[in-house]
Amino acid sequence: MTTMKRKPLVAGNWKMNGDKALVADFINTLDATNAEGVDIVVCPPAVYLAAFGDVNFAIGAQDVSALDNGAHTGDLSVEMLKEVGCKYIIVGHSERREDHGESSEWVAEKAAKVVSGQLTPIICVGEPLEVREAGDDAVQGFIREQLRALTSKLSADELSRSVIAYEPIWAIGTGKTASPEQAQDVHAFIRSELADTDAEMASGMRILYGGSVKPANAQELFGQPDVDGGLIGGASLKTDDFIAICQSAKI
Ligand code: PEP
Repeated sequence: MTTMKRKPLVAGNWKMNGDKALVADFINTLDATNAEGVDIVVCPPAVYLAAFGDVNFAIGAQDVSALDNGAHTGDLSVEMLKEVGCKYIIVGHSERREDHGESSEWVAEKAAKVVSGQLTPIICVGEPLEVREAGDDAVQGFIREQLRALTSKLSADELSRSVIAYEPIWAIGTGKTASPEQAQDVHAFIRSELADTDAEMASGMRILYGGSVKPANAQELFGQPDVDGGLIGGASLKTDDFIAICQSAKI
């Protein structure tokens, strides 16, 4: 496989947290941070997206509908999120898969919709604890199924305009981080699976790690050859921690 230089990306997922004061805090501090060498994305709850205005980092949404504008109460379309300034949209976060019964096929529909709207989906995959405990083959089988739903729906060109986040569910919000070796193994596996569809797309794919990333462990995780940055939950709610993590990702 040809190797390609990939620009690191760090995305903060606030989940259902934050308020106007936190938005102001991020506008004041993160905007003044030197973002050279890393793409930075902040994904607040949708009600705060428009409040960010013109900042030197990207803003993203935490979810989107796979459907066009219309009679879908409570949902938000790609078109709407684009209008308020989103550049990225997280799809398939394990909390959405769990809380809202989202299947891998539905996640792939959402990702395709985001790409067709010229925004970048951050597509989450990752195994639960019982699969991790069943061993490496089980982990690979689980991730392979999630990836197959994507490669059957999205073309190599569409995938080349996407980002993947590997988030082992047992590491999300638990304080248990995958070891750098565990993360690297799965990231390399994801890249090799994508290479079965298209080697160039696989080589250029940014694969983020998510799961209890903190300033103390970010550098080692991001230093792995197939880890191209992170999707950060808890630590993205503190500007100091988030900025430190972004700095760790710089090439
Ligand atoms: C996440 O929710 O995407 C996440 C990785 O959370 P945390 O960093 O808190 O584990």
